Amino acid sequence: MFADDFAPDCYWTQDAPPPAAPPGPPPAAADVVIVGSGYTGLTAARETALAGRATLVLDSGPLGGGCSARNGGQVAFSIKPGHGVLTARHGARVATRIYQEALEAVANLRALARDQRLDCDWRDVGCFVGAHTPRLFGALVHEAESQPQGLEMPFRVVPRERQAEEIDTPFYHGGVVYPGDAALHPAKLIVALHARAAAAGADFRAHCAVEAIVRTRGGFEVQTSQGTVRARQVLIATNGYTGRFAPWHRRRILPIGSYIIATEALDPALVRRLIPHGRNIGDTRRVVVYYRPSPDGRRILFGGRAAAGETDARRCVPRLRSMLAQIFPELAGVRVSRAWMGFVGFTFDTLPHLGERDGLYCCMGYCGQGLPSATYYGRKIGLTMAGRPGGETALAGLSFPSRPLYTGNPWFLPAAIVGYRLRDALGI
Ligand SMILES: Cc1cc2nc3c(=O)[nH]c(=O)nc-3n(C[C@H](O)[C@H](O)[C@H](O)COP(=O)(O)OP(=O)(O)OC[C@H]3O[C@@H](n4cnc5c(N)ncnc54)[C@H](O)[C@@H]3O)c2cc1C
Repeated sequence: MFADDFAPDCYWTQDAPPPAAPPGPPPAAADVVIVGSGYTGLTAARETALAGRATLVLDSGPLGGGCSARNGGQVAFSIKPGHGVLTARHGARVATRIYQEALEAVANLRALARDQRLDCDWRDVGCFVGAHTPRLFGALVHEAESQPQGLEMPFRVVPRERQAEEIDTPFYHGGVVYPGDAALHPAKLIVALHARAAAAGADFRAHCAVEAIVRTRGGFEVQTSQGTVRARQVLIATNGYTGRFAPWHRRRILPIGSYIIATEALDPALVRRLIPHGRNIGDTRRVVVYYRPSPDGRRILFGGRAAAGETDARRCVPRLRSMLAQIFPELAGVRVSRAWMGFVGFTFDTLPHLGERDGLYCCMGYCGQGLPSATYYGRKIGLTMAGRPGGETALAGLSFPSRPLYTGNPWFLPAAIVGYRLRDALGI
């Protein structure tokens, strides 16, 4: 099952290792300290640095070493609640604005990648969403056809008879193609965003964990594993890795492990036959799976929730591999060359949250789809902190919910996953 070169490591960082950060302790003071160097932290840092604020980005691990260098690289519309649900919760105006922002987020990332010529293997491949039961094919089509007026994403219905044009599998009962989705290389994007923030003047320290943030008269004292930094403003950009140093935020984020494997190198003709247009693929199961060809077209990267509780990535290989073979039976004997995982940050209302509370800024909670939204909202929070226009968002001012007795460990998740799996198996 394991290829000879197997490593329990991220496929992406092989050809895009983490950017280097200056060695040594952090400086004694900065205008802005950003905790976390993923897409959120790096895009925010560029804006505060461009505004002339001395900006320091700290990470407890390598730069970009959280979700941002290790995700599936699939760029899609990324607001989970439907327009109707958002309208009931927040009114039609806010719901529509949240939807517009989600569309803008994808367009922004595309413009950034293409117009700024970011070296991140951007591909406008689109996405195929497969229905895993006949009833859910109807539901998929209904969902695509009833998108809110004026906010529609283009789509194309693919009946089962024509499914082989999109994906060579007997597993699905038809699906829907969203041609506006895209794919990229997540770790190359980190390298590019780091370069932009550094060029704007931001400073960085890796392996420098924030242990406490203490309010002082002029701002904050940020205590780290490498020394203390005084800061006028602090941004918490730790998403699914938010630790005890930020207990209020930790009570509002559900860290949920997502697991991926990369197959061994396959014949590119085989990969092209299985996924002819090289699209991103997802399906209707509640326990999410997502997969796509690697940028060189030689491997399939297959991810999802492979275990009820959290475990190490290597232990998820048998399950992910058999899920892959369930879709592509001819890959039953395929070997796996990489396996890795990361913690996505969910929220109780499945919306991202950003803003300021008691002088501390935060931006987090992309619910597993941070490629467009972390880059988009990271920029907005950076502009807000810098006092520049453009930071306005419909999400500002929405309350960031928690639940009684929840302190940051989603102990209830394994039971929920088992329930979702059962519903997936029954097709309900
Ligand atoms: C396996 C997987 C697949 C995914 N697939 C997709 C996908 O296909 N498409 C998509 O849109 N999204 C996907 N996501 C989600 C996406 O990667 C995230 O939403 C996004 O990267 C979040 O960026 P971020 O900067 O907010 O957080 P992160 O990139 O997670 O960065 C947070 C950083 O904070 C640091 N940190 C934490 N605590 C401290 C501390 N005390 N001191 C200093 N630093 C600290 C961490 O080390 C980390 O580097 C996936 C995620 C995973 C794990």
